[in-house]
Amino acid sequence: MAMYSKAAARLLGLPENHIACRLWIIPENPQDSCKIPAAPLAGDEQSGLPPTGRIFHHCISLPAVAFFAGVEAGPGGGGMFGVLQDHVYEEHDTGAHPERKERLVAIRDGIALLDQSLLTPLAPKTATVEQIAYVHEPDYIAYVKQQVERGYDHLNMDTSICARSYDVALQAVGGALAGLDEIMAGRLSGAFFCVRPPGHHAETGESLGFCLFNNIAIGARHLQKAHGLNRVAIYDFDVHHGNGTMHTFYEDDRVFYGSVHQWPWYPGTGRAEETGQGKGLGTTLNIPCPAGAGDFEYEEATLRFGEAMDKFKPEFLLISAGYDGHWADPLAGHQCTENGYIAITRILKQIAATHCNGRIACFLEGGYNLAALKNCVSATVKTLATA
Ligand SMILES: [Zn+2]
Repeated sequence: MAMYSKAAARLLGLPENHIACRLWIIPENPQDSCKIPAAPLAGDEQSGLPPTGRIFHHCISLPAVAFFAGVEAGPGGGGMFGVLQDHVYEEHDTGAHPERKERLVAIRDGIALLDQSLLTPLAPKTATVEQIAYVHEPDYIAYVKQQVERGYDHLNMDTSICARSYDVALQAVGGALAGLDEIMAGRLSGAFFCVRPPGHHAETGESLGFCLFNNIAIGARHLQKAHGLNRVAIYDFDVHHGNGTMHTFYEDDRVFYGSVHQWPWYPGTGRAEETGQGKGLGTTLNIPCPAGAGDFEYEEATLRFGEAMDKFKPEFLLISAGYDGHWADPLAGHQCTENGYIAITRILKQIAATHCNGRIACFLEGGYNLAALKNCVSATVKTLATA
């Protein structure tokens, strides 16, 4: 199994915007071998991969069928790390609110500076109401839709909405679920979903803290329901505790929730004593840190989460990636730096490599200093996308 170049895609008659990857060429019929080149293809040498022809020759003696998977590469893309970005996520217009569309503009500027050959752009997709209902109560989903349709500008005191918010929230979830599908299919190693509105404060029946639907919790349920995974882990390094995510899985022993966060602080949950309940006892790990904590505490917490993962052995690692623990962030009192976020990303990448066959996906949560957000998200993407 290997990754191949666009030259191989051309050979197999795929459209120009496809790239050949994860290629098993095993002809059923020996005559089919005439379609397979004997010589290396232009571009293979540059990719550092073995000459395509040699691999084909190596395989043609095996009896089986040819299997080929094509991945939409997009302009300048084609890497194995997916990034979901789209202007539609700026249409959730919250006005002069800390959780505003300019956050995504800053992130886009930062990601544009990275080596685009490492990245594959992902597209938004609208989630179904049934998918939202993996986590949320039907009455709550209908309530959000109704409040938006009635023209309300807030769902609660701190959660702004506009006429597009319901549709955009569906697309935040749907785009992420489609990205998870790509990872499960082996076409991507991991992904970062730069979506709004954020999700980790949303409870099953209540919006909270700028969040409408709990994107990451729905993602974990999707991995269980659509892909049959038995153990999914979530790590939340947003400076605020992810109350909605924790409560969703508090009695569930198949989803582990770990969080490092400022405490005491908003939203008031996330004490160390909150460790799960019933069957889920022991699959919640809260690591509260007082104001003033920073890179050292976040790294120690992430290592502790890693020790817990050695026991839990997750099949997929989901990250609630919030950057409001940065020293420059206006909404909290932690002192993390860009280098600190790189350090914890490396630990998380190692956890995913050890237990999850590398499968990792980040969901954007908070982060309200635009310069810090820009630098830290692109540092995370670069760390995860680079071998
Ligand atoms: Zn936050």
